[in-house]
Amino acid sequence: MTATAVASEARATATTRILQEAREVELAVQLIHLGARLQVLQSETSLPYERLLKLYKEVTGRSPSKGQLPFSTDYFLQWQPNIHASLFENIRQSLLKNAALEDIEAVMRAWRLYEEQMRLCGIEPLLSFTRAWRLAKFCDAKMLMRARCTHCGAHFVADPYINLRHYVCGLCKPPARAGKGRASGGLRADD
Ligand SMILES: [Zn+2]
Repeated sequence: MTATAVASEARATATTRILQEAREVELAVQLIHLGARLQVLQSETSLPYERLLKLYKEVTGRSPSKGQLPFSTDYFLQWQPNIHASLFENIRQSLLKNAALEDIEAVMRAWRLYEEQMRLCGIEPLLSFTRAWRLAKFCDAKMLMRARCTHCGAHFVADPYINLRHYVCGLCKPPARAGKGRASGGLRADD
């Protein structure tokens, strides 16, 4: 290879790297706007921690909250969170089925649609973006799955070890105290 060819290849590599980095910064900023925590940014981009921290502060004007992501799969199986989780996951699965999307794009789009749907219904969106992202990871890792309710036929997020033949969703069979003593804006069993 001639010296000129080597130099031009090096330039091309540098350009590719800069473009790739620009795309990652753009993605990080979008995620921060959606309310993603720093761990999400670290997982979805290859930008260095210091860079992400700086971006986070620039976009939000504050420092990110510290600590690990507190959620386990159990959270998504509780009555009210499960209904929200199921709405989100159903949207995400239908997006993945109908459009060629990167995983993270599908999570972002599904979450925006979920949030918009909740606002239109006057319901507080219980599922933060970070929670939704976590849920998507759990589902992709088969630590959670979608089960079809034997009563209403709709799909709900469920434990992968349940007996599908007898599965009844939280809306068809709400727990005794569901919807009681909740502030307005929450889901109610009798809605
Ligand atoms: Zn049902």
